[in-house]
Amino acid sequence: MPEISDGGIGSLLRHAVRALPPPLRRRLQALRRQRATPLADLLPLSLPESMHIDPSNACNFRCAFCPTGDDELLRSVQRPAGHMDFDLYRRIIDQIAVMARQTGRTLSILHLYKDGEPLLNKRLPEMAAYAKRAGVADLVGTTTNASLLTEDAAGRLIDSGIDQVRISVIHVGSERYKELTRTWADYEKVRTNVGFLYAEKKRRKSHMHVLTKINDTALTDEERERFRADFSGICDDLRFDSLMGWSLSDVKDFTLGVEVATGMDGATALRERRVCPEPFSRLAVNFDGQVSVCCVDWSFGTVVGDLRRESVTDVWNGERLRRFRLAHLRGRRGDIPACANCQYITGEQAHRTLDQHAERLLALYDLPKS
Ligand code: SF4
Repeated sequence: MPEISDGGIGSLLRHAVRALPPPLRRRLQALRRQRATPLADLLPLSLPESMHIDPSNACNFRCAFCPTGDDELLRSVQRPAGHMDFDLYRRIIDQIAVMARQTGRTLSILHLYKDGEPLLNKRLPEMAAYAKRAGVADLVGTTTNASLLTEDAAGRLIDSGIDQVRISVIHVGSERYKELTRTWADYEKVRTNVGFLYAEKKRRKSHMHVLTKINDTALTDEERERFRADFSGICDDLRFDSLMGWSLSDVKDFTLGVEVATGMDGATALRERRVCPEPFSRLAVNFDGQVSVCCVDWSFGTVVGDLRRESVTDVWNGERLRRFRLAHLRGRRGDIPACANCQYITGEQAHRTLDQHAERLLALYDLPKS
């Protein structure tokens, strides 16, 4: 029976630790301990703690709470669209592998998604398999709306060795699905696809963790109960996520007028923060190789590098990201339009708070380049 979890990857780690052989189990237990350590005590990081790489920023849904669902908005920031080229992806993974060897570290998580529906990129399973073979991350996962999760796609994902598949359920019932996604009105198909994935992973004795989550678009008690009832037998974990305001939350209300009180994990109370932990701990590679500081940068407004021309090391240790970090540490987040009115920062978990460490970190990050 799956547990109802409100945490981020905690449930995945618990599941994975139970399911894995002893050496990997010890590694994941170390990862859990690391997640309990305040981020400030780990800085500066020689390798990002985690990364997103976007297989595709196109989507077959037009969700009302997602920037990718608003074509006019995307046109207004001239966001390009497409799938990631596999050769580019391979070079990125190879570069992370070199960094990992040089630093003796690995990413804790590699998320193969960012702005779009990753299964639109037919090579997603190959991407996951390549990352797993390269050993660049303790965990490799993806997030999908499950509409394209055919039996073939499910089998190929399981074969890839991917550690986690997160399913974004949009609502319960076809009518609300159509209203929110504006393209898809087949709730039962989503359930069928998730059910097949879960049954197949059991049949093949795969360690893959299936997490099903739903955004709390002012769900009623009955709707919450239906979500539990419909999915509790066909996944490892269930989760209720809060809607979030994304970067540039002043440009559009992505929370649909719902009163949101917690971060995306559905647990962390929102509070004002000065310094964002993202530029110190993560990177998000867009489909075309441009590197955003964070996964909520839907407008490409935090781009600090381009992996078509630079290496991951160049970007992580580069001048653009250094200036970005210094702006945050100096209390000048408002100078960066994408960050100035970002709601996501207010839901960052407590152990990632850097505000009270800004002076010490300035001394670390303000060093002249040698
Ligand atoms: S403030 Fe928001 S947009 Fe800026 S780096 Fe942090 S999460 Fe990203």
